[in-house]
Amino acid sequence: MLLPSNEWLAQAPLERLQLDWLSAANVEVAILRLDQIDPLISGNKWFKLVEHLNAADRAGAQGIISLGGAHSNHLHALAAAGKRLGFKTVGLLRGHAQETPTLKDLQAFGMHLHWLGYGGYRARHEPGFWLPWQAQYPTLHAVPEGGGGLSGALGCVALKAQANAQLSHLGWSDFHGWWLACGTGTTLAGLVLAEAGERPVYGALAVPGDHGVAPHVEAIIREAGLCMAHYELLDASRGGFAKVDPPLLGFIEQTEQVSGVPLEPVYTGKALLALRQQVEAGRFASGTRLIFVHTGGLQGQRGFAAAP
Ligand SMILES: *Cc1c(COP(=O)(O)O)cnc(C)c1O
Repeated sequence: MLLPSNEWLAQAPLERLQLDWLSAANVEVAILRLDQIDPLISGNKWFKLVEHLNAADRAGAQGIISLGGAHSNHLHALAAAGKRLGFKTVGLLRGHAQETPTLKDLQAFGMHLHWLGYGGYRARHEPGFWLPWQAQYPTLHAVPEGGGGLSGALGCVALKAQANAQLSHLGWSDFHGWWLACGTGTTLAGLVLAEAGERPVYGALAVPGDHGVAPHVEAIIREAGLCMAHYELLDASRGGFAKVDPPLLGFIEQTEQVSGVPLEPVYTGKALLALRQQVEAGRFASGTRLIFVHTGGLQGQRGFAAAP
């Protein structure tokens, strides 16, 4: 069993976010802290893994093999889960051996690492890519890059119930929508499936609009057989994935000081800044209540801050 049978489940705290630009518009926001689900495991990548772990259990596997880059939040969550829950993990890495804070953690968590180079990593979608790895690790279950697709989205459906269970702590009887950062759109798709057309889900894109997020979300919705979907994608990328600029960094620093909520510049910082712009543009009526999903990613920022 990769997942403990006694329903060990990471719970994300839901907290009020008090910021002057929210009170000025009389918009209320609560933040679902996926960065705080567990001392070792952090972020949306854990939720994206849950259904893959279930599939591995059904297949009788003893662990997981997957792939990612040298700052990968996905491999970090996977390795942390393996350490926390006691299953074997193997990571296939893009590029050539290097040292990053993420890689140090992966090794400390007991993940076995293989460097594929760049060409080798590009071959990851080719038929037959997994065959030699399956031969080398016959007891492991393979999970695609980032843990995306319908399986990844199904694990994120649980976010809705986690938020609902905590609404009364905030004195909220209900809320009007979700706001979160998107990379592939898998996490957003999970919330769209959970809401089934009820509340809108707003996705702040960390990648420029032409990166295939909308078709990926639509494919998940179709595969799940959902008829009612209510979501919207907005460009929050500020000129490119992982591109930063002084106003963004200033916004993050100021928000962290006022709210105590740590953010990183690739996903969560850009998503919250995009929300601010929409709120200030009058997008949301006075009295609107939103849940902002803190998707984590703080571990990857360590290497990011040090990068040239
Ligand atoms: C991976 C990641 C995302 C994007 O998640 P998708 O499901 O690919 O849209 C958002 N925020 C953080 C911090 C991430 O690590």
